[in-house]
Amino acid sequence: MGKTLDIEKNKINKDKFDYEGDNHLMSSLESSLLDNAFDLSDDEKIAIIQEYFKNIMLTLGLDLNDDSLKGTPHRVAKMYVKEAFIGLKPQEKPKISLFDNKYQYGKMLVEKNISFHSCCEHHFLPIYGKVHIAYISSGKVIGLSKMHRIVNYYSRRPQVQERLTVQVFNELKNVLNTEDVAIFMDAFHLCVSSRGIKDITSSTVTIESGGVFKEDNKWAEFISIINESK
Ligand SMILES: [Zn+2]
Repeated sequence: MGKTLDIEKNKINKDKFDYEGDNHLMSSLESSLLDNAFDLSDDEKIAIIQEYFKNIMLTLGLDLNDDSLKGTPHRVAKMYVKEAFIGLKPQEKPKISLFDNKYQYGKMLVEKNISFHSCCEHHFLPIYGKVHIAYISSGKVIGLSKMHRIVNYYSRRPQVQERLTVQVFNELKNVLNTEDVAIFMDAFHLCVSSRGIKDITSSTVTIESGGVFKEDNKWAEFISIINESK
């Protein structure tokens, strides 16, 4: 028998979920995954999602014989598994190598304007924006691009911005072996701008700080560096 998904088990209560989605409740710090989340191979997942997406398009009344639409179910399925949600796979977690802080640099290092794309887990619409990260070395330093890779890994999955912020913050504290980490995330949510309230100007800011960044003056220094133009 081919592998199938237990759809019945996850039957939804429409009213309850409409309410929760619009109120942006956060379920847990870990992204919620089923026990069997990795039983299927990527190709098996693509084949299944492709069929479901084809059915969504057919249900909407789209003619899949049209040349322009024909390949869409496959394109969407492949994009979900290989790009947009690739951060669900633990083996995609970036391997971080640390280096000795040979320069004895003891001030904060700020990596500004790290751009990211994620996906709102309530509406499956894009979230995109910028993250600013600061840390003070505890004796080790991290390659600059690794901060981008960590942001990317946690972004590439269905998310809420609050969880994404905390996940990136915790991972940085973990790999850098310090509490002295600060993060400022500013993002646009297409579920706010393109539907619902349809506000195209607002953005959402989430922050987290540990160690010395909990002190007002350190946090203020971080913010002033972020706000400095080039
Ligand atoms: Zn949303």
